[in-house]
Amino acid sequence: MKNKYGIPKKISSNIQVQRICQHCGDEFTARTTVTHYCGDTCSKRAYKARVRIGKVEVSIKETRRIKTQPIEVLKKKEYLTVTQVSKLIGCLDLAFLKSNLTI
Ligand SMILES: [Zn+2]
Repeated sequence: MKNKYGIPKKISSNIQVQRICQHCGDEFTARTTVTHYCGDTCSKRAYKARVRIGKVEVSIKETRRIKTQPIEVLKKKEYLTVTQVSKLIGCLDLAFLKSNLTI
């Protein structure tokens, strides 16, 4: 039996499996062995959490890309200024080094 999209309909089973909800951690009785959540509420909340985590990861990657981009540009240059070198090796700048060095 298929639905209107041509996807076979799930055949309801008579099995009952005790499972742990992956969102709230409660034990529940599932009718399939692949059910992850105790109900619609947890399923929706888990989905929203996954979307949120995805957005955070995208934001972190974007920040990392922007922060490393100037360094990639500097690596390609033939000659560098002192400020550019300090940026490349990861210290702030020469003025910062001078103010923090005690000889
Ligand atoms: Zn739950």
